[in-house]
Amino acid sequence: MAMFTRSQTQMESREQEPPSLSPALSIRWWSKETVAVVTGANKGIGFALVKKLAHLGLTVVLTARDDERGGQAAESLRAQGLVDVHFSVLDVSDPVSIDAFVSWFRNHFTALDILVNNAAVSFNDIHENSVDNAELVVKTNFYGSKLLTEALLPMFRRSPSIGRILNVSSRLGSVNKVRNPNMGRMLQGEDLTEEHIEAMVGSFLEDVRKGTWKSQGWPEVWTDYAVSKLALNAYTKVLATRYDGCGLSANCFCPGFTQTSMTGGKGTRTADEAAEVGATIALLPPENLPTGKFFMGCNPVINSKL
Ligand code: NDP
Repeated sequence: MAMFTRSQTQMESREQEPPSLSPALSIRWWSKETVAVVTGANKGIGFALVKKLAHLGLTVVLTARDDERGGQAAESLRAQGLVDVHFSVLDVSDPVSIDAFVSWFRNHFTALDILVNNAAVSFNDIHENSVDNAELVVKTNFYGSKLLTEALLPMFRRSPSIGRILNVSSRLGSVNKVRNPNMGRMLQGEDLTEEHIEAMVGSFLEDVRKGTWKSQGWPEVWTDYAVSKLALNAYTKVLATRYDGCGLSANCFCPGFTQTSMTGGKGTRTADEAAEVGATIALLPPENLPTGKFFMGCNPVINSKL
């Protein structure tokens, strides 16, 4: 596919980072002209990621579904001197909002370098497993990321530094959580397509409607959320295959159990710690940047094939 090539612009200059940064971040291939978009960034890991990327000197678009919450979050970062943080409203569960955001982005920026699909919902407390909101969970966590990615694909910069899609996912959506062997085989198959993934999601929602979801081999913990992330992981694999060698990478990142609203403040790490890892993965030097990988927890070295 000729859409992205590695030789169309000069590689950005490399400078040394301050010593406190993790080694991967010390190879500074990016500049202020490098543009990142982060979804669901008014709080939690998304907000921390915007802060981290802006601190590192990128131009970052903080997006949020609520104008006031998002605007205040961006303003709080600009007040810290992070003047290259921009804000736009974006509700990833609403295709009209996605279209409006892409138009806004086109009017303000010439190209996109990094897309972090971070926005997500979950309606269960730690030990609950209701699927009452399954449609909304799937619509936000899977379709929201997918539709936004597709709408922004033409905007990725043609650059040797390689465009990056980082999908913030969860190990709850790993293929080994699926107990239905046919489903597991389909997800691991080399011929996996978007149609397969959408059929899987449709079949889950049908099981929810019929009340049969508990007996069909779906993941046992936070089932609707796990299926949404399973679909997101699978979609990342399809993207990675489609754009392999074409200047665009697609990876997933599980931040691990992190203290945010989603976990009711419980967790083993802070959002800033999770964002440090997320930023490291998003900014891996072009020559070390894999595609189609699932990065787990705090150690960006541990990664596995999707
Ligand atoms: P938070 O609940 O703190 O943040 C979620 C963000 O997503 C909020 O900004 C929320 O906005 C936003 N959001 C929700 N729905 C939409 C929508 N339709 N459009 C745009 N934005 C939306 O959770 P985390 O920071 O913990 O979650 C960030 C990511 O990390 C998620 O993808 C999550 O699945 C993943 N993750 C988190 C883990 C954890 O332990 N915390 C573990 C594994 C994965 P609003 O404030 O308006 O609700």
